[in-house]
Formats: sequence, C-alpha cells, structure tokens
Amino acid sequence: MEFSPPRAWAEIDLSALRHNFLLAREKSGGQDVMAVVKANAYGHGVKNVVQALEDLKPTFYGVANVAEARELKAILPSAKIYLLGAANQLEYREIIREGFIACVSNMEELTEFAILAKSARKKVVLHIAVDTGMGRGGFLPESSEFQEAISFSHSNVEIEGIGSHCPASDEDETFTRRQYQEFESLVSKRFKYRHLANSAGLLHYKSESLNLVRPGLMLYGCSPLPDYQSLLKPAMKLCSRVSLVRGVPKGHGISYGRTYITTRDTKIAIIGIGYADGILRSMSKRNPQVLINGQRASIIGRITMDQIIVDITDMTDCKTGDEVELFGSNILVSEVAHQADTIPWEIFTGIAPRVERVLV
Ligand SMILES: *Cc1c(COP(=O)(O)O)cnc(C)c1O
Repeated sequence: MEFSPPRAWAEIDLSALRHNFLLAREKSGGQDVMAVVKANAYGHGVKNVVQALEDLKPTFYGVANVAEARELKAILPSAKIYLLGAANQLEYREIIREGFIACVSNMEELTEFAILAKSARKKVVLHIAVDTGMGRGGFLPESSEFQEAISFSHSNVEIEGIGSHCPASDEDETFTRRQYQEFESLVSKRFKYRHLANSAGLLHYKSESLNLVRPGLMLYGCSPLPDYQSLLKPAMKLCSRVSLVRGVPKGHGISYGRTYITTRDTKIAIIGIGYADGILRSMSKRNPQVLINGQRASIIGRITMDQIIVDITDMTDCKTGDEVELFGSNILVSEVAHQADTIPWEIFTGIAPRVERVLV
C-alpha cells in the first residue's frame, strides 16, 4: 500500500552531525567529547544521532534522565551514559544496576549511592558536580562537604570525574573567564575526567587542565555564538508543503483575530505546518519568513495550529505541492528563535513528535 508523503517533516543530515562533532573535537584541542543527546538529541532523534556519531567514538553520551538513559542503552548497549541532571533517590537502584554514570551534589547523595551499590554488590561510577556559578546542582567549592567529597573513598564507588557548568559562556565573557580559572584551580589531575565546557565554552575558551567537553547545540549545527556559525552545518531542515494557493482581495482579513488585513489584492499560499508542529505562534508579530523555491516569503496573520498563511503575491513560481523550508541552511534556527523571543534550544526541542524525522 502506498502512503502519502508527510505534511511536515524534519530532514536530518547525518554528515552534518559528523562534521559538527569533529569540529567540537578539533576546537577543544582534541579533548574527550561527551555528545549531549538529551531531549531526543535536541529533537533530531537520538537513534539518528547515535547512528551518525558512533564510529567517531564520543567518550560519553549525555542525557537528561534515567528514561533517556534506558532508551539510549537499548540503542547502543556499550555506550557510557552520563546523567547531566541531578538524580533523585528513587532512581539510584536502576542507575547502579544499569551502569549509568551520575553526578552528585552533596555528601548525602554520595553516601546513599555507596550504601546501595554495596548492597547490590556493584561499583557505581560517579562524578562530583561543582557549583561555580550556575546555581543549579553541585557542591559549593568553599564548603567543607566539597573537601569531604573529593577525598571520599569507598570500595563500591568510583569517582571518575569532576564537572561544573557554564551559566553564561554565550553572554558574559568576563564572568566565564573567571569561572574557568576558578574551576581549573579546584580540580586536580587525579580525576580522570575534568569538564566544564558546553558548546559556547569549548568554542570560545581554551583550557590546559580540563580534558572533557560537553557540546550539545553545536552538534546540531547551531552556534550559541554568531562568530562561529559559519563553521557549522545545520543538521535539521524543517519542511512542509504548499497545500493550497488562492487569491484574496485588498482589505481582506487573514487568520484568527484578523490582525493582518491585506493592503493589496494578495496571492496567498497555505502551508501545512503550525504551532502544533513547533512553529511558535509568538513569532507571528515579527514578520517571520519561509523559503519556497529558493525565495523568501512572509508569513502573514497569526500562525494557527496546523497551517500558516504566506504572502506569495511577488513570487513568480509557487504552486500546490511545492516544498517549503521553515528553517535549515537558508533560514537559520537562530533567526526563528529570535523572532519567537526564545532560544534555538527551545525551538529544536519543541518540534513535535508528529513531525516525521527523515534521514538524508
Ligand atoms: C545541556 C547541557 C550541555 C550542553 O549545552 P549546549 O549549550 O547545548 O552545548 C552541557 N552540559 C550540561 C550540564 C547540560 O545540561
């Protein structure tokens, strides 16, 4: 039986993912790389991304939680899977049993892991998280608990690494330089893995003593710092098709609320994608654009749940069935994010499950 093609889909470019991963490794000066694949690999499909990167050998894969770790382990049983966020105690038994790697933020967590690992007759692998300014998880470096943690020794616990997180590597250079210095002064080389950098961190800050980087966004071809964008290849192209072309007269309302009234006889194209697919309605006010047959055209009126309306009066060539790029190599996801008053991370992770991911 033959099925119709999807109305909205996301093309995932495996060679772009590989290019971006290799760039992360190169920019870090050859450090170990944790490929951050949380939130279904920023919406790109964790299976697709693992498939693209596997033979490039990321040292770790970073996920948000135990459910994501479980899913990843089913895809790649040999993966070293690191839980980026704090684990709660209901998850410890599974973490120990499955060999996931967790980070700890206080002595209570560390000792609880030790007790449960001992009773499971297993060795749990942990990293010490340090709060050097993020204000989320981590030991405060000046605390006595931190001293206790870095000298902690228990036969069922391997403290394999120490890490911290950048709150402002794409926004505040002065703070971030100081943060790197502080973290470097705290970590001793007896920890096998020492890590601080996210994408912006590894692109813009050099470190001699740290040896593991944790890129997320840049793997998907979007730079948090505009200066580095040209080095990256967008891995996702979000697409739809023209479902209808028609004309409306001057003075005609367009979409809900009639916030747009045509100022001339207008040719419109209806595109089969909307906010239920992840095209944020909040962009409606900012003259967002799409690409049809290599030409930009403006979205007019409010974005609706499943459809958007585009002014194609000035386009020479646009007919039903034509492909439309919402973002990709021509319209960058960062442009879309800016128009929606948000960040590229939120755009990627907001692409709905009903948008089919297609490998190219
Ligand atoms: C999400 C995350 C990253 C990746 O950040 P990007 O800015 O997407 O590169 C790195 N480290 C931690 C702890 C994270 O939660």
